[in-house]
Amino acid sequence: KSGFVALIGRPNVGKSTLLNAILGQKVAIMSNKPQTTRNRIHGVHTDERGQIVFLDTPGIHKPKSRLGDYMVKVSMNTLQEVDVVCWIVDVEEEMGPGDRFIADVLKKVETPVFLVVNKIDRVHPERLLPFIDQFRKELEFQEVIPISALNGNNVRTLVEQIYERL
Ligand code: GDP
Ligand code: MG
Repeated sequence: KSGFVALIGRPNVGKSTLLNAILGQKVAIMSNKPQTTRNRIHGVHTDERGQIVFLDTPGIHKPKSRLGDYMVKVSMNTLQEVDVVCWIVDVEEEMGPGDRFIADVLKKVETPVFLVVNKIDRVHPERLLPFIDQFRKELEFQEVIPISALNGNNVRTLVEQIYERL
C-alpha cells in the first residue's frame, strides 16, 4: 500500500511534532512562531505495510493577504489530491474562526478527513468528548483519533488507521 497524507491545522497545534513522531527523525522545523513551515516539507514513512508520504502543508487559515489567498489555493489542490487529510487540533484551544474556515474548506473536498486531537497529555480525559463534539457539528470525520504527538501516545494507532484507508 502507498499513498499521500496532508497534515493541516492552525499554527502551533503540533503538526511538525507529529510528523517528527511518525518519522522518528527531525525533518520539519519546530518553532513556536507561526508559519515557520512555509515549504511543503514532506517525509516518507516506510515499513512492511507500505509507504505513506506526508505533506506538512503551510497553514490553511483565513486569508488576510494575497499571499494567504495563494497559499489557500495551493493547499486546496493538495487536499484534493491526497488519500487522507489529517486535521490536527489542539485540545486546549477552543474552536475558533480559524477552525470554521478550515471546516468550510474541507467541506469542499471529497477526501476522507481524520480529526486528530493533539496534546491529550494536557487535559483530563472527560474534557475530550465535549471538545470533539464541537468539531463533529461542523464536519463529518472518517476517524477521530486523540493523540499526544509529544509523548507518542496513540500515534501508532493513527498510522494504522491511515494504512487502513490506502
Ligand atoms: P505546528 O505549528 O502545528 O507545526 O506545531 P509544532 O509542532 O511546532 O508545536 C507547537 C508547540 O506545541 C511546540 O512547543 C510543541 O512542543 C508543542 N506540542 C506539540 N505536540 C504536543 C503534545 O502532544 N503535547 C504537548 N503538551 N505539547 C505539544
Ligand atoms: Mg510546523
